[in-house]
Amino acid sequence: MNSPARHDRPADAPLVHPVHDAAAKVLVVGSVALDSVETPFGRADDVLGGSGTYFASSASHFAPVQVVGVVGDDYPIEKLEPLRERGVDFAGLERASGTSFRWRGRYRHDLNSAETLETHLGVFSHFAPKIPEQFRNAPFVFLANIDPRLQLQVLDQVTAPKLVACDTMNFWIESRRPELIELLGRVDLITLNDGEVRQLTEKANLVHGAKWILDRGPKHVIIKKGEHGAFMFTKESVFFAPAYPLESVFDPTGAGDSFAGGFIGHLASTNDLSDLSMRRAVVVGSAMGSFAVEKFSNARLLEIGHDDIERRVQEFRQLVAFDAELRT
Ligand code: AMP
Repeated sequence: MNSPARHDRPADAPLVHPVHDAAAKVLVVGSVALDSVETPFGRADDVLGGSGTYFASSASHFAPVQVVGVVGDDYPIEKLEPLRERGVDFAGLERASGTSFRWRGRYRHDLNSAETLETHLGVFSHFAPKIPEQFRNAPFVFLANIDPRLQLQVLDQVTAPKLVACDTMNFWIESRRPELIELLGRVDLITLNDGEVRQLTEKANLVHGAKWILDRGPKHVIIKKGEHGAFMFTKESVFFAPAYPLESVFDPTGAGDSFAGGFIGHLASTNDLSDLSMRRAVVVGSAMGSFAVEKFSNARLLEIGHDDIERRVQEFRQLVAFDAELRT
């Protein structure tokens, strides 16, 4: 296994920077939804949700974000205003006649896995993503969790991105397996949770599962394990970051998309795709996932600032420090 160069920057230098002019643009295509969620700590109905929304709420802390998606004419569009104020560009958000995508889920005491109670596709069932001209050259593209057929259509419209990452879920692994496997051949990176890896690869062992995926195209496979952290596999190396040990997890919805937003946002902010930068991006992603679950919907992601994120990233550093030089 390759080990990364160790001293390219001081160990205590800030990792997180506010959005700056040199940050690359990030395009996300995903669901913009209304979620109804039950957790052991309460419930929320018809709150802002969707893979694209969580991703944008997180990534917009690091880089300019462009959203492509669809909502119905029943969508409370004013709920997206705080994201617009953060600079998120919704020029690619179509408003179609019909009902918005709705997801209803429940978490029991094991907050690691959501039980889907209802998926109402609404306007999503006729959606064909149209990437606006000004979004097509985005260097970073995230195909958030939507129908893999739509994810493939997006790739036909973008012009030579630097990095394409995708996500998916059990719903699509079951219903769109061939398209998902085709997609693997066209992306650089995929994020999945451990259950999804087992379902997709039919391998009980996650290392075998990661290899199966790497053999089909992506150069990086990120396996999220909820409160147990995340692995990043390449053909040459394995990296692991723990999850932040939160005292209270309120609502796990969106943790995965917020992870992806922090991960891609960091890469876009630094424009650096070296192994070390990818590893740091996993930690930034883990930090963003940990914020997402502290409140319902994207509320916590919208109230935090750059200092909160940097502080949490530093706490991650302490969490895994066992060499004397790494202790502050
Ligand atoms: P996660 O980060 O995996 O917790 O993502 C949660 C978000 O995914 C929720 O806000 C849902 O609205 C959205 N979602 C759930 N099912 C689907 C689906 N089949 N397609 C697209 N988005 C979905």
